[in-house]
Amino acid sequence: MSEPLLRVNQLVKNFPIKGGVLGREIDQVHAVDNISFVLFAGETLGLVGESGCGKSTTGRCILRLIEPTSGEIWFEGRNVTEFDHRTLTALRRDIQIIFQDPYASLNPRMTIGAIIGEALTIHRLASNRRAFEDRVAQLLETVGLNPDHMRRYPHEFSGGQRQRIGIARALAVSPKLIVCDEPVSALDVSIQAQVINLLEDLQDEFGLTYLFIAHDLSVVEHISTRVAVMYLGRIVEIATANDLYAAPLHPYTEALLSAVPIPDPTAKRQRIRLQGDVPNPIRPPSGCHFHTRCPIRELPLCSTEKPTLRESRPGHWVACHLRG
Ligand code: SF4
Repeated sequence: MSEPLLRVNQLVKNFPIKGGVLGREIDQVHAVDNISFVLFAGETLGLVGESGCGKSTTGRCILRLIEPTSGEIWFEGRNVTEFDHRTLTALRRDIQIIFQDPYASLNPRMTIGAIIGEALTIHRLASNRRAFEDRVAQLLETVGLNPDHMRRYPHEFSGGQRQRIGIARALAVSPKLIVCDEPVSALDVSIQAQVINLLEDLQDEFGLTYLFIAHDLSVVEHISTRVAVMYLGRIVEIATANDLYAAPLHPYTEALLSAVPIPDPTAKRQRIRLQGDVPNPIRPPSGCHFHTRCPIRELPLCSTEKPTLRESRPGHWVACHLRG
């Protein structure tokens, strides 16, 4: 198999909690707990889990928008965690991000042209004003918007159009990898499919690779080549999309999947309702993080020993003492 475009190795991210009069560190949020995965050129890896499971933190660590606590991130054979300021600027040409909230991620005081073209200026990709405007117009057309929109402001656009503007901004520097951080979660269901279709078309046209972050499995089903499921900072299952949807192994994946609507009205899928809320990531449960909610747990094994990811079937990895 070819070398992966991205390799994440034992990534850890803890956020300090400060308190007391001196503002000392009194605790830590364990947002990402030693995760590893690879991403191959041209594929889409769906990264799925409930909010607070560490998926967005993982995406931001890859771009070094936040600094990992430990671990390595390799992109095209280079260790991103060792990049200095200059090489980081170059990295941000190759890796872009699309944010969840198209309302909050666009500066309301800038025109659409200025927003999309900002990266062209930073990376000196337009030799003059004419070249700049031609490229912005081309990008607007690519995402299905009118080139004349470049002189308008974000408030003049709908949520779906704003997300298209966010996509055009990401495409401006011709990236290789785009971290799509819940790009459709804030949109109406009817608009979600249009944006996902656009992302798929762009992937075909420009050979893009996506890390597609979402909080439910239904969103990533059609766009993903492979899917990784996260729970409380850990990857609990990773497999090809077909395999994961047809035959999930981890009880948490089963529960997430049971909430996905089935298009066939005659087919029935029993909903698995997990008890309790996601535990506090400041003090995650011992052993398997999922043991406090797992319908099939075996104690004391599950509460004392951390399950490691094992390859249960070719390409299908699961972290569970009883499955796989
Ligand atoms: Fe459930 Fe135990 Fe498997 Fe964790 S290791 S998912 S608690 S059965």
